[in-house]
Amino acid sequence: MLTGGRCGVTVSEKTVTVIGGGLAGSECAYQLARRGVKVELREMKPQHRSPAHKSDQLAELVCSNSLRSDSPESAIGLLHQELRRLGSVILTSADTHRVPAGEALAVDRERFSGAVTALLTGAPNVTVVPGEVDTLPEGTVVVATGPLTSDALTRALEGYVGEKLYFYDSIAPIVAADSVDMTVAFRQSRWGRGGSDDYLNLPMDEEAYRRFVRALCAAEKVAPHSFEEPKYFEGCLPIEVMAERGEDTLAHGPMKPVGLTDPRTGRSPYAVVQLRMEDAHGTAYNMVGFQTRLTWTEQRRIFPSIPGLEHAEFLRMGQIHRNTFIDAPRLLGADLSLRAEPRVFFAGQITGVEGYVESAACGYLTALAVHARLTGGTFHPPPATTALGALYRHVTGEAHPQGYVYQPSNVLFGLFPPLPGRVKKADKRAAYSARAQADFGPWLDTVPGVASAGTQRSA
Ligand SMILES: Cc1cc2nc3c(=O)[nH]c(=O)nc-3n(C[C@H](O)[C@H](O)[C@H](O)COP(=O)(O)OP(=O)(O)OC[C@H]3O[C@@H](n4cnc5c(N)ncnc54)[C@H](O)[C@@H]3O)c2cc1C
Repeated sequence: MLTGGRCGVTVSEKTVTVIGGGLAGSECAYQLARRGVKVELREMKPQHRSPAHKSDQLAELVCSNSLRSDSPESAIGLLHQELRRLGSVILTSADTHRVPAGEALAVDRERFSGAVTALLTGAPNVTVVPGEVDTLPEGTVVVATGPLTSDALTRALEGYVGEKLYFYDSIAPIVAADSVDMTVAFRQSRWGRGGSDDYLNLPMDEEAYRRFVRALCAAEKVAPHSFEEPKYFEGCLPIEVMAERGEDTLAHGPMKPVGLTDPRTGRSPYAVVQLRMEDAHGTAYNMVGFQTRLTWTEQRRIFPSIPGLEHAEFLRMGQIHRNTFIDAPRLLGADLSLRAEPRVFFAGQITGVEGYVESAACGYLTALAVHARLTGGTFHPPPATTALGALYRHVTGEAHPQGYVYQPSNVLFGLFPPLPGRVKKADKRAAYSARAQADFGPWLDTVPGVASAGTQRSA
């Protein structure tokens, strides 16, 4: 299935080491091998496993068997479509082992991972080497060890990046800007500091605030995994933990109204929910300090009780889990290699993308970057208007406003450049999708090895 040197360029005889045979590492190894590069794929299973990994296969889906919406009018569905056109091993194997799930692309997880494993272990340019990697090997290396990178390698990587990895990833919900009721929200920064338009404020009177706190305390929470000690930084506590500490804890914490005056009343509200711009174009807003372990159902039930969010469209719900990722916009160059050690590339969730498909997509881009480096070619990032381009803009930081604190993200329309002109809300998804599809084709023609390699149909 894999053949070498199809791109009409000389590929270095040196072997590239890909560490981690998850979604990103499998995609990256496959795409390199398909373009004639020899790959050693080092995977710590079955000798060592993270607490979330159970199977012996490559490309294991650790939780849901869904690769989410397959509709090209969703950002993730668009990413599916682009990966199919690129001949992604993850997407084509998912299609082959798809199970009925409405609009979602869900798979038979055993057959899916089995198919990817068979393709990689049977590939002439790939050698799968089991065992934990605890120091970076010589030569060109791709680190694709995911959110649960082993402790020994995490420590070794810290030596290269010069800072601590391993975070509790506190993810606050994100809302679509055009779904916030602007007759309630007001734009203001505390004490008028910074840009006056940087924050949207949702004011609450005392009664609404107390009702909200009671709802948080009574709500159903997600139980932490056994490997996730619920040990939070004081500055990063889940809202429900703060609510349980005292009725006014939130009003003195992330919901404090100091330095804010509601222009409609001329007074400071009792409490406030602040929304901070998530993308450079202000299409999406992050609920500041609203990291939470409430179940998504409870978040969807309770957050619309916040004045101004009655009809909010949530682009992402709040979460807290253990994660290992690097500050990619600062540490990586445009070709996803470490600025301080350019022979070391990164791929997958460790770069700060989130999700199975996003990680595979990142693995694909890294393979193109490594291939360009080895062949003396140029790595051409995908256009910003495509789903792959939006993800790339997230990792390189181009999609984010100045001062943005880098956090993992799924692919979202909020990461795309805004649509030109005025587009009705109901037409926006279709417009993003049409623009992406139009811009993807010309870029695809520049990607080495796609036309000749074709799309595999089965394992
Ligand atoms: C508990 C949990 C639940 C999740 N649920 C979902 C979900 O429902 N839907 C979704 O889209 N995403 C989910 N995710 C996120 C998803 O798992 C990741 O986005 C995706 O798997 C990342 O792909 P990756 O290739 O970067 O890492 P992984 O798929 O985790 O692959 C990394 C691989 O590297 C190996 N490895 C680690 N350290 C070493 C080492 N030192 N040496 C050699 N090999 C090593 C691991 O064994 C693993 O096989 C979840 C994550 C977690 C932790």
